[in-house]
Amino acid sequence: MTKPQKRSPQDGFFWKTKTLEQLSPTEWESLCDGCARCCLEKLEDEDSGRIYFTEVGCRLLDAGGCACRDYPNRSDRVPDCVRLTPKEVRELTWLPPSCAYKLVAEGRDLYWWHPLISGDPNTVHEAGVSVRGRVERTETEVPVEELEDHIVSWPALLPKRAKLKQRPR
Ligand code: SF4
Ligand code: SF4
Repeated sequence: MTKPQKRSPQDGFFWKTKTLEQLSPTEWESLCDGCARCCLEKLEDEDSGRIYFTEVGCRLLDAGGCACRDYPNRSDRVPDCVRLTPKEVRELTWLPPSCAYKLVAEGRDLYWWHPLISGDPNTVHEAGVSVRGRVERTETEVPVEELEDHIVSWPALLPKRAKLKQRPR
């Protein structure tokens, strides 16, 4: 006998009923929680292939607003900016555990702080998931050879309050 699938309060919403490939452009964009963790500079260990996050932002990152300063032209301005596709979401190993695309690809629910759940774009900051207040410099201010000194682990982790079932009072 097959085990009945556990129901979720998010059943019926587009991110639960559609695959990443089936999302409209508007749905796709709305799925981004605005954390900007993916806009941090990363370093790859040539031997192991492991990716390390740094606390240094991309040159176009507005770290306070957690937004790209030139989103429509980002690929022209920053050729190594990763434009996520469903395929990349499934294949990239470095996407943060909080990333909504990753959660949806894995069939998981969005967290309470995701703007699609809370209705409030500020909850991603309130939950400590965004990069706000944690990026002091951009790649234009830190020489590549010094990036190693700025490796941090928090972008690959989820803060305790972000893991809660609902918004803490
Ligand atoms: S990590 Fe994912 S959810 Fe966060 S800004 Fe990047 S694409 Fe959006
Ligand atoms: S170009 Fe914009 S979207 Fe791309 S990594 Fe930089 S800040 Fe983020």
